[in-house]
Amino acid sequence: MTITSRWAIPIPRCSLQQWIFDSPCGPLPDRQVFIDPERPDTHFLTLADYRLLSKRVALGLQKAGLKIGDRVLMFSGNNLFFPSVFLGVLMAGGIFTGANPTFVPRELAYQLRDSEASFLVVAEAALQTTLEAAKEVGLSRDRIFVFGGHDSPSQTAHMLHPRPGYRGRVQGVRHWTELLSGNLNQAESWSWEEPSDPENTTCCLNYSSGTTGVPKGVEISHHSYVANGAGVVFNNDLDPKAAEKLARARTVCFLPFYHALAQTYYISIYPRLRTPVYVMPSFDFVKMLEYVQRFRVTALICVPPIVVMLAKHPITKKFNLSSIEGLSCGAAPLSREISDEAQNLFISVGATPDLVLRQGWGMTEMTCTCMSWDPLDRKPSAGVGEMMPNCAAKLVDLDGKTFIEKAGERGELWVTGPTMMRGYWRKPEATRDTFFVDSDGTRWLKTGDIAYIEEYKPGGIFHVVDRLKELIKVKGNQVAPAELEGVLLEHPAVADAAVVGVTIKGEEVPRAYVVLGDPKSGTTEREIAEWFAGRVARYKQLKGGVVFTDVVPKNPSGKILRRQLRDRAQKEVGDS
Ligand code: AMP
Repeated sequence: MTITSRWAIPIPRCSLQQWIFDSPCGPLPDRQVFIDPERPDTHFLTLADYRLLSKRVALGLQKAGLKIGDRVLMFSGNNLFFPSVFLGVLMAGGIFTGANPTFVPRELAYQLRDSEASFLVVAEAALQTTLEAAKEVGLSRDRIFVFGGHDSPSQTAHMLHPRPGYRGRVQGVRHWTELLSGNLNQAESWSWEEPSDPENTTCCLNYSSGTTGVPKGVEISHHSYVANGAGVVFNNDLDPKAAEKLARARTVCFLPFYHALAQTYYISIYPRLRTPVYVMPSFDFVKMLEYVQRFRVTALICVPPIVVMLAKHPITKKFNLSSIEGLSCGAAPLSREISDEAQNLFISVGATPDLVLRQGWGMTEMTCTCMSWDPLDRKPSAGVGEMMPNCAAKLVDLDGKTFIEKAGERGELWVTGPTMMRGYWRKPEATRDTFFVDSDGTRWLKTGDIAYIEEYKPGGIFHVVDRLKELIKVKGNQVAPAELEGVLLEHPAVADAAVVGVTIKGEEVPRAYVVLGDPKSGTTEREIAEWFAGRVARYKQLKGGVVFTDVVPKNPSGKILRRQLRDRAQKEVGDS
């Protein structure tokens, strides 16, 4: 049985940037939207600054040779100007792709090669990694721009009115402010070209491994971003106090801007709502608490490990967190106990007794949020809420054929709606395998998640309880077993390998099972682990251990029996 959202809402047919700003030129409210929490009086961008700076990036990229549909890869942590590079790429008609700033050269080279990015904007600290990766894929230095080094006291002024050649070159690579130089007057009156077909105009490639295999570029269109944003805003507005809350709303962003969750909320929805965002370069628990207290932050979007810290860390109680009115969590499972504990903690330190921690469910392939709670629904629950506007879902028995009709029965979650990806970038086979096309032509995304429906009513109430897919989630970050297995197989002593997720102290981490070519070679598990450590980003490390085994269990067609291995791994490590 299909569960359809209670709400079918109109979606503006426009670009994401048009949805955020409403207009390419003309007056905008003079509201600060991005603020450096360490220097809030001098380092901020207003909404008008945000639009103007984005247009200047767009003009600079076009002048540098960017053509419609070209990819620009951003490789940087957060700062005030990151969102303008994101939107500048879109305004220029390009496609944005963001990479995790902790990547090693091999990982960056993979995304560069796969996306065939023609420009790179990279943090100064990541330049060495970038140059190695660029060399590997043959991208020339004049396609790279160094980002950052924004520490001078008059930095904001410099960014908005940079002198030509500001900061000069770093190791012979141009500084990104060269994209801006000399185009201030032109940018003021310049309008970006609206896409003629926003449904079919890809503006982002967000990397995800989906249900199987290595990371793939998820093609998200302008229309999907706008549909996602319009759905979230509609959902917020169901709260009768929404307007009153919006007037005092402030948030702090510690989630990485390269990821869909931050792109949709902090780069798009909050600026559209004119809500100030305090931008942290990366997550720092104590600083986050300090900023909540100091700036009277009203809304926090968290991933489960942060909620665990909020609930358990004794320092939380030392801060005045009474301003928090909205607390949400997504990206990975969160237990009912932790959710209740965090919620009660906030209430105990003065937040409104009405505060409810709401979990949402989302997926890169669905732009971002696909299920969330009606703000009027006060029932605390470990569930992930109901279908977002215009979206629908069904559950399919694990045989892949029978649709589930009964509340409480588990099955694979299939979803559809305007936020659904166009497909995987240049991977028609993976795209085909991920969709199921109905007899009426509706495309359903097979999520690889196992869920049940609490109540069969319009919109439903869903609980996501397990994963059918091989994906491992480490602190909300995707880790693709196939990628780690590929790295392990590069070791000369390794004949076969399988990686599965295992839960240790409440956190999922990767654990490797390795078959040696010659078991008498004397190679140790520790040697493999140390060799592996230098080849992947920190969050992909084999924190669940490396274990030698005689054979990797596989089915007759050679597919790794991951569930069997996961059960074995969990038994071996004990704790869950
Ligand atoms: P990503 O594409 O990186 O956003 O990861 C999407 C996957 O994260 C989903 O398919 C789920 O496996 C998992 N996920 C996201 N939100 C939740 C949630 N609230 N509860 C459980 N798993 C979640």
